[in-house]
Amino acid sequence: MNKTRILKEYFGHSAFRGGQEELVDGILSGHDVLGVMPTGAGKSVCYQVPALMLDGMTIVVSPLISLMKDQVSALRQSGINAGYINSSLDAGQSRAVYRAAYSGEIKILYAAPERLLTDGFLNLCTQVKIPLVTVDEAHCISQWGQDFRPSYLRIAEFIKTLPERPVTAAFTATATEQVRNDIKELLGLKKTIEITKGFDRKNLYFSVQKPKSKYDSLVELLDKTPDRCTIIYCLTRKTVEDVCRKLNINGFKATRYHAGLSDAERRKNQDDFIFDRKNIMVATNAFGMGIDKSNVGLVVHYNMPKNMESYYQEAGRAGRDGSDAECVLFYSGQDVRTNRFLIDNTDDNPELTREQRREIRRLDIERLDKMTGYCLYTRCFRRYILGYFGDMAPENCGNCSNCLADFETVDMTVEAQKILSCVYRLKQRGIGFGKNSLIDVLRGSQNAKLAKYDLSDLSTYGIMSDDSAENIGDIIDSLIGRGYLKQTGEYMILDTTETSPALVRGKIKFMFKKRKPKAEVRARSNVYDVDYTLFSQLKALRSEIAKRERTAAYIIFSDAALRDMCRKMPTTIEEFLEVAGVGKLKAKKYGTEFTECIRDYIKLYIIILRSF
Ligand code: ADP
Ligand code: ZN
Repeated sequence: MNKTRILKEYFGHSAFRGGQEELVDGILSGHDVLGVMPTGAGKSVCYQVPALMLDGMTIVVSPLISLMKDQVSALRQSGINAGYINSSLDAGQSRAVYRAAYSGEIKILYAAPERLLTDGFLNLCTQVKIPLVTVDEAHCISQWGQDFRPSYLRIAEFIKTLPERPVTAAFTATATEQVRNDIKELLGLKKTIEITKGFDRKNLYFSVQKPKSKYDSLVELLDKTPDRCTIIYCLTRKTVEDVCRKLNINGFKATRYHAGLSDAERRKNQDDFIFDRKNIMVATNAFGMGIDKSNVGLVVHYNMPKNMESYYQEAGRAGRDGSDAECVLFYSGQDVRTNRFLIDNTDDNPELTREQRREIRRLDIERLDKMTGYCLYTRCFRRYILGYFGDMAPENCGNCSNCLADFETVDMTVEAQKILSCVYRLKQRGIGFGKNSLIDVLRGSQNAKLAKYDLSDLSTYGIMSDDSAENIGDIIDSLIGRGYLKQTGEYMILDTTETSPALVRGKIKFMFKKRKPKAEVRARSNVYDVDYTLFSQLKALRSEIAKRERTAAYIIFSDAALRDMCRKMPTTIEEFLEVAGVGKLKAKKYGTEFTECIRDYIKLYIIILRSF
């Protein structure tokens, strides 16, 4: 069978997306490949299609157990024989997988990296033909990435012990050059075909809010669409507990996930979310790696995360099936301090030298600064994100809160000059202040802290006494966001940068986007762009089937597939096969039930029409 037929018959997709075909072809022609693609772009197809075409068993190295189980059940649903080996299996289950693998039944075998060099696994791999080894989340091999896993360093050794060198395919969503080079070098990739796919996720709407009360804003957001599948990320376990408890008191169906819960409870809560028993998951960043629930419609960051990589990965869990989805970040200055604290107090990796640790910490702080810059940015958020990952983007995306907000642009060059001069003057006296104290100086406040410094003769003291503290704060934020000021050290002392002098000397203008009050900003949404009654009926049918088969609803069909059914209204199996996301096996298994449901709906609809 050729690759396009496999894509349709097993996965139900009628065409490859950008980048996928090149990677499939690369693998089939015997090249090693490196695919750099954002979450949700469709990495799995790139190695699953060749795995079905190559003779032998493909091995997929993956860091997370939850990912394997999910992917293997999804593959089995599509009629592909897959299995996994990791520490979650008991001895009996593990034996059964080995037996199936030895007998040549398994086409795709997922394995945790720690398993590769065990005797049992090595023995299997010398007996069975291995044409392809895929390394998922390949950035885990790099010490400079944000998820370093020492066990990844041994993958190359594993590949070397195989009787015949397989094609090696690596995939990641992290694109920095250093990480990419590490992957190629440490995995020993050869004749590599490298494809970096655009990082843009057009269906995601990005927004940053600085709410007075984060919780109130959260409730307001959830109230708009209370049934929507939502993930709320918090920085600490305590915040997770607080937010989840309050949401439940307020009548939302929320569950929680963090490293402080027992394994059993984590698993239960995760299942409640995956199986749609609870539609809101409140979690730390421990949640989500490997969860590819495709119908998440909203991701809220209740706190600013530690870097753009984490942010984009977590936010990217929204809208994986291509439907429009929202990503909202709640920012406060406290988040920056909490992140600093976490950077300074994370357990050091004992395998690293002190020099390496210091370097990693420096990089962490640099990444945090970029993340803060994002929150304070006043122009297109998508452009900032894509720029960070090295992608080009237009000035305005039209689908982020800054592009859609009602701003008026005002010239604030004089105000900016006053603020920067004040920082310079203070610096001349050897004084460094954080944002709030600086605002106090500019407004000429007479609080006890300032009294100690005797600033009454400072030329910039009280120079902005007519402006509100809030207004000055916004301008300072914008100066930071655009690189004219930076925050340094534990107390986030404000300091000038190499670009400040040009602004102070009036060589450039400082245009400031002021939010017009009460601008009603809305994300576009296609949630209701199809017949809602039919969509609900198909959803109910899907839940019924999921219950019967003891699997998650989205493993049967994604929301996007249901939506396509509403558009195409197929009434025969042939027509059903035209639906995006419907492959041959699924059409055979579920086609009758779904087309029947649609036929009933059409009948009813005609009766209603006639009665008018
Ligand atoms: P990643 O691993 O890159 O995060 P996945 O492999 O899980 O992404 O794919 C994300 C989603 O995109 C899945 O719902 C998948 O069915 C869908 N998808 C993948 N390839 C295609 C394609 N060629 N056409 C349509 N949908 C696709
Ligand atoms: Zn934009």
